[in-house]
Amino acid sequence: MYVPTKQGTILTSPHSPLSPAETRDRVLSSRGILFDLDGVLTPTAEVHMSAWSRLFTPFLDAQGVKPYTDADYFAYIDGKPRYDGVRSLLASRGLSLPDGEPTDAPELETVCGLGNRKNKAFNETLAEDGVSAYPGSLRFLDAVVAAGLKVAVVTSSLNGEMVLTAAGLRDRFEIVVDGVRARAEKLAGKPAPDTYLFGAELLGLTAAQCVVIEDAESGIQSGRSGDFGLVLGVDRGVGAHVLFEAGADTVVTDLDELLPLIGSTVLSSPSSSGVPA
Ligand SMILES: [Mg+2]
Repeated sequence: MYVPTKQGTILTSPHSPLSPAETRDRVLSSRGILFDLDGVLTPTAEVHMSAWSRLFTPFLDAQGVKPYTDADYFAYIDGKPRYDGVRSLLASRGLSLPDGEPTDAPELETVCGLGNRKNKAFNETLAEDGVSAYPGSLRFLDAVVAAGLKVAVVTSSLNGEMVLTAAGLRDRFEIVVDGVRARAEKLAGKPAPDTYLFGAELLGLTAAQCVVIEDAESGIQSGRSGDFGLVLGVDRGVGAHVLFEAGADTVVTDLDELLPLIGSTVLSSPSSSGVPA
């Protein structure tokens, strides 16, 4: 659990971080949990990294320039829209290509063509290797469902359904708001709160009744601006202070950290002590 500095200079969020007990109470007094996907339920960043490597390792070899490494992913690609990542990596090697069109075939040597080749590699990697959900997130999901909370996934990803299926999670969620659904409903993407508000509405709940769980700054901002009951950050490397500054009420490094608290409360609550019919 993150402890702020005494000076309080790191945190600009108006919300004081909650204690573990307060976090537990807020989770258990909510009616629903809205999960982000990449970085919260599944370690999808690794699949993206692998796909970029499958694109650029042979491509840069063929150009006779400095080989591609994972350090290039963090320096030039991570967090950027797909085509911007392509442009940025090419520029790092003194290369450039015509932009082309988003409809370009993956074989075309254009920025869009290479971006689409990366997406094809992402889909192939998912299909071949699959992706395993974070064990701590699975246990947390089990615990909150056992506690009677409703759950939904809210992700910007256009590959959301595919990732959920590959992780064996698709049938755990009746409600999935992914990039495809957001586009169809004309919802503004994160950091706007719209996709999360839509998820809450589909669960039949208000924002105040729901917890938002996010690993990205933009997603935390969605939860904060939507006035959700609790905005819970999962720090997978971006830094707890970044998530707090974006408006997180509390930050954990894995959802597992909340389990002893939630599990003990569920077990000791009178409503769960009945004998199954
Ligand atoms: Mg995420």
